[in-house]
Amino acid sequence: MKHGNALQAVRARLGQRAYRMTAPRWAVIEEFAALGRYITAKELHERLRRRHARVGLATVYRTLETLESVGAAARAPQPHGETAYLFCPVKHHHHAVCTKCGKVADVSCGSLARLERALTAELRFKLVQHRFEFFGVCDRCS
Ligand SMILES: [Zn+2]
Ligand SMILES: [Zn+2]
Ligand SMILES: [Zn+2]
Repeated sequence: MKHGNALQAVRARLGQRAYRMTAPRWAVIEEFAALGRYITAKELHERLRRRHARVGLATVYRTLETLESVGAAARAPQPHGETAYLFCPVKHHHHAVCTKCGKVADVSCGSLARLERALTAELRFKLVQHRFEFFGVCDRCS
């Protein structure tokens, strides 16, 4: 399972916050983590329903919000108002987004640290945070 480690890390993080893991919540998290792209609560609920998972829409909303609050989901407001969420490993990373299918690959931050050090020296600017997003075409779409 591709997201196995990330899933266990999220489970551990939620456990630390005394989050009560139930079967429906876990079903939401598993379906969400396997997806690898942004999705709204309604769309995710629809997918779960098609798999005959007994999960209410309110549970989907709350679970996504909880994941975001522990750093395990990124959110993107959509043009039509609904918020879309993306499952994220709790470790700092970046995204490479396919502009054709919306698939998101996680990118580790390794080489950006060097750029940060160079900028700090050059600009005499203490960087405390950064945000990067890459766009392109994924393997399947190219
Ligand atoms: Zn992410
Ligand atoms: Zn693609
Ligand atoms: Zn970074």
